[in-house]
Amino acid sequence: MACEIEAARALLYATARMIDAGKKGYSKESSYSKLLPSDLAVRTAIEAIALMGPYGVLKEYHVEKRLRDAKITQIYEGTNEIQRTVIALELTKEAGTKAKAKEARA
Ligand SMILES: Cc1cc2nc3c(=O)[nH]c(=O)nc-3n(C[C@H](O)[C@H](O)[C@H](O)COP(=O)(O)OP(=O)(O)OC[C@H]3O[C@@H](n4cnc5c(N)ncnc54)[C@H](O)[C@@H]3O)c2cc1C
Repeated sequence: MACEIEAARALLYATARMIDAGKKGYSKESSYSKLLPSDLAVRTAIEAIALMGPYGVLKEYHVEKRLRDAKITQIYEGTNEIQRTVIALELTKEAGTKAKAKEARA
């Protein structure tokens, strides 16, 4: 869990650096940075509940709250289904641009 959280953090910071550097057209990267950490937050919260065994679902241990808090991150600021749509669109555009460039070279 810690390893995956670090990887997600690295992805998020890489996108933030890209934006800070003034790069235009970061839709795909910003969708990556919303999608992956929020999906991971839910998955790790579920793992944490499992790790705690029966205590995981008790309010006093605050782990079940982590899951409720994580779940909303998949929904607000553009649902993760929509982030997937944005990523697919951007990848399709990139593939089209590459194919056109290859055609022009041939
Ligand atoms: C507590 C809470 C806080 C929120 N806060 C914010 C906020 O701060 N800022 C903000 O921008 N929004 C916020 N939202 C809205 C959120 O981002 C979604 O836009 C909204 O919940 C989904 O829109 P809808 O209710 O009209 O449902 P619909 O648009 O009908 O969507 C229902 C479901 O279908 C999926 N879906 C819709 N269209 C497609 C498609 N083309 N392909 C695949 N799946 C699709 C959606 O991802 C969603 O899971 C919040 C929502 C909640 C519940």
